[in-house]
Amino acid sequence: MTRTHYEILGVKEGATYEEIRTRYRSSVLNYHPDKLQKTDDLSNSINLPDNRFLEIQRAWEILGNPTSRAVYDIELQTLKQDATTSEDVSIEDMTIEYAGDVVELLYQCRCGDCFSIDSVELEEMGYLLSRDGDFISLQTLNSFPASVVLPCGSCSLKIRLLMNNAENM
Ligand SMILES: [Zn+2]
Repeated sequence: MTRTHYEILGVKEGATYEEIRTRYRSSVLNYHPDKLQKTDDLSNSINLPDNRFLEIQRAWEILGNPTSRAVYDIELQTLKQDATTSEDVSIEDMTIEYAGDVVELLYQCRCGDCFSIDSVELEEMGYLLSRDGDFISLQTLNSFPASVVLPCGSCSLKIRLLMNNAENM
């Protein structure tokens, strides 16, 4: 999945024109080829920042113009609809948080919120999540589903959490 123009500029999708312009200007200053040439003695490494600069230019061309931005937003929504059926995520990709005896597994959603499931919910489904120091291991109590679908807390996206290879995290 390629990054969106918003991600390239580091702005939210609901950002105002002013916010986008400000980010564009500071990004361009950081990645401008002229500036990089002066500060960077290793001419071989110029390719990467150069591409980054072009990416920023391209993102600004689209997002800096209300008409092209509106068209792009629609494309982006369509892409998201397609992605609603989700991404496959393994346990190792999840961020682990402890809330007392409960272990919570989190995965960041593109909308900024996250997908989450905790050890209590997992137990209800037949998984035993045990904690030993910094290590978490997951055992199946029954031969229950090999994956669990997790909805995002805020948007309509879902991910599929794969339960195999969950040992020795
Ligand atoms: Zn979301």
